[in-house]
Amino acid sequence: MKRSSDNNVRDEQASIGDIPLAPLGEAKKKKRRKPRLALRYYVWLYFMIFAVVILVLIWLFQYVFLDKYYESAKIRDIASVANKVRDAYGTSTQNETCGKLAYENNLCIVLTDESGNRVTGSNNLGSYSTLYKDIMENHSRHVFELKAKLNKSSDGNYTEMIDDEQTSFKGLIYCTTVLEPSAQKQAYLFIESSIEPIDSTVSIIREQLIYITVILIELAFLVTLFISKRLSRPITSITNTAKQFAAGDYSVEFKGEGYKEVEELSTVLNNAENEIKKVSDLRKDLIANISHDLRTPLTMVKAYAEMIRDLSGDNPKKRNEHVQIIIDEADRLTALVNNLLELSKLESGNMELEMSDFSIVDKLNDCMTRYTLLIEQNGYDIKYEPDEDRIITADINKLDQVIYNFINNAINYTGEHKVIRVRQINKPGCVRVEVIDNGNGISKELLPLVFDRYYRDAKVKRAVVGTGLGLSICKEILKKHGFAFGVSSVEGEGSTFWFEAPTRDKQ
Ligand code: ADP
Repeated sequence: MKRSSDNNVRDEQASIGDIPLAPLGEAKKKKRRKPRLALRYYVWLYFMIFAVVILVLIWLFQYVFLDKYYESAKIRDIASVANKVRDAYGTSTQNETCGKLAYENNLCIVLTDESGNRVTGSNNLGSYSTLYKDIMENHSRHVFELKAKLNKSSDGNYTEMIDDEQTSFKGLIYCTTVLEPSAQKQAYLFIESSIEPIDSTVSIIREQLIYITVILIELAFLVTLFISKRLSRPITSITNTAKQFAAGDYSVEFKGEGYKEVEELSTVLNNAENEIKKVSDLRKDLIANISHDLRTPLTMVKAYAEMIRDLSGDNPKKRNEHVQIIIDEADRLTALVNNLLELSKLESGNMELEMSDFSIVDKLNDCMTRYTLLIEQNGYDIKYEPDEDRIITADINKLDQVIYNFINNAINYTGEHKVIRVRQINKPGCVRVEVIDNGNGISKELLPLVFDRYYRDAKVKRAVVGTGLGLSICKEILKKHGFAFGVSSVEGEGSTFWFEAPTRDKQ
């Protein structure tokens, strides 16, 4: 007992508020989501990370790796000088070229023959050049060492860094082999260059980098603040509109200005809103229609039952008439409830089809016999226009229901004309069944809605209207079969309801 009252309390709690909440048990089961920051903070954070990465890269290249970069640039320049010397080697201009290159690039260039004797050279480094001193004393140990290292190197050149403590000279010696084109003689080329101390340059760059860093961080901060606000504004506006929409205001319009994604989102939300509004309107209509349709027969049943009790109970003729009315009204109620049950079953997908092969001509003839009485008594002219017989595969009872619904609607809405045609048209691979009436037809605006649940034309008087569920039941049945179906109608001229069933040729 105690337990059930506890449950009640829980349920009540769970439904408090504007939006229905999930039962507490379910909520507990769901994983607790981490609290998230607003979009603009993420935009800001990512942009700042980006700015910091750029700054780190600038610092690395401009400050930390500057020495290494300077060295490798120097070696590249010397290698290109070496190429020019190589081109001039063995020509009449070799001495001149060496001198010019040494002068222009502030280098010491020395070319020796295979055995280490100086062939030509030019020194622009003065007494600082370690190389020149070595070469002057022909066959110096240092030159031999350089040659040995050069011969071992795989890429045909060797670079050695110089750091002379006595003279404080810093530089590098680049060695490579040179081949005289005509004489085919092998020679050795040594180029020495000073490496200027770049400490003063580095300190200037560092000072500049500090300024750049501060400016960039401030700029990034301001720009991201602006961009993040711009990006998040339309989303915030859509969220606020969605909150109004969730609270039940279907008149709101989602405005997605700013960028494509938000525009698409607002279009989708506007469409969803229209659909939900439509369903909600239809649902309201259905409740109004059904309560009206339930109340009317119930009132009749009550009234006639009271009449039998008070007045006609002793009059067998009158009593029978009144009892018949009660039975008719009860039938009407049963049909309404059955329709509702059937539609909900079809829509929930619980209905299994019992497929079988049968002749379409036999089926339509069978349907026609049911209307014989109506034709005789009420003057309806229901014509069947058959084509050659075909075998179709379907759930015979469900298809029966569709055909009856189409014909019954045609009878209900045909008006004074009372002529209904059931036409069979064989097409390649399928048979088309059309139910044609010459009633008032359906207006263009209402035509797309006739197969919708709960739709009923408000202008049609109660005597002929059903529950507004017949065609939606047909739609579910035909959809489940995978048959094409539809309606065409001209207002004032009549309507044609049709479906197409794939065929199997008769054996
Ligand atoms: P109902 O039980 O109200 O006839 P249906 O689902 O069968 O429900 O039909 C839905 C609505 O479509 C009808 O209320 C009517 O307005 C319209 N309709 C159906 N068939 C026809 C027809 N042959 N001619 C004109 N209107 C039709």
